[in-house]
Amino acid sequence: MIFLIALYVFSESITATHSLASNRPIEEKAETTSKNQKLKNVKILATGGTIAGSASSKTDTTGYQAGVLGIETLINAVPELKQVANVCGEQIANIRSQNMDNKILLKLSKRINELLKTKAVDGFVVTHGTDTLEETAYFLNLVIKSSKPVVIVGSMRPASALSADGPLNLYNAVKIAASEEAKNKGVLISLNGRIGSARYITKTNTTTTDTFQSEEQGYLGAIAGNKIYFYNEPTRKHTTESVFDITKLDELPQVDIIYGYQNDNRYFYDAAVKAGAKGIIIAGVGNGSISDHALEGAKAAAKKGVIIIRSSHVGNGIVTREKTDDENNFVTADSLNPQKARILAMLALTKTNDPKEIQRFFNVY
Ligand code: GLU
Repeated sequence: MIFLIALYVFSESITATHSLASNRPIEEKAETTSKNQKLKNVKILATGGTIAGSASSKTDTTGYQAGVLGIETLINAVPELKQVANVCGEQIANIRSQNMDNKILLKLSKRINELLKTKAVDGFVVTHGTDTLEETAYFLNLVIKSSKPVVIVGSMRPASALSADGPLNLYNAVKIAASEEAKNKGVLISLNGRIGSARYITKTNTTTTDTFQSEEQGYLGAIAGNKIYFYNEPTRKHTTESVFDITKLDELPQVDIIYGYQNDNRYFYDAAVKAGAKGIIIAGVGNGSISDHALEGAKAAAKKGVIIIRSSHVGNGIVTREKTDDENNFVTADSLNPQKARILAMLALTKTNDPKEIQRFFNVY
């Protein structure tokens, strides 16, 4: 039995490797299936994660391999998808999301913008590992030039698990992507029956299925009883209102995150500057506070033209602008957590090196 499961996982990783090398066969196969003219066309772009994960036992919900099942397998596991949309899959990558990098991020974003030009797609779903899902979602929220729905989805349990959450999450995501209500709401994150904005949602728990939360600003809506309910709109600029354009970019400026803690020191700042960082996000304590030692490093970096952005590792709340920011040309991250502040900082740095301009971006996005 174990041998059979191992063989299955292995054959799936072959499919995944094959599809990573060339995603066309999957796409063509999916597109040759007859389209129901009454349904919207939803493109599912797959990147890996637990939703594409498999373990050798149904009860193993942590020691599994993520990013091994191909998009075709995920689609075939949910035949009900055909009732809500004409779905078509494409493998962008098949990785664990801790390995998501700027290269794949740009590839994914450019692919969505390219598909938008064809008008053949009404909505997008991106499958993704949950660990850095919010970072990709916020990046897409800032660079996708469309009001069409884009929904990022993952799962906390692998496809092989008892009560795997991936299939229903995928079904819900496709349903949202095919809906009129989801238009012009920016990039959405949907897991566990919730619908949230890429700007607000964050992962809050290492293992539970209710991990994606938005404590400060709340969810935009929910999906219940097979119906979509929207209650709120995101108030920050996104997608069609965003000035960030990745069309001609092949790389993004290096921005690093430095954690604040008792007895910290300046050497991480010096190391980041030496390594070529153009921006540093401080995951500070409390209201983005910085110790005197770390402040020395931050000031020295700012004097060298590195943009310093104060955020907080508390997990909730706004980092307010203080005297020290004006004195040292620092930027504050508003309510963006450090990992999302890094995303906006990279894009902001493609436009300007002026801390005042960058602060303006942080005030509106
Ligand atoms: N660490 C893996 C990833 O982010 C699995 C986590 C998940 O998808 O839930 O891809």
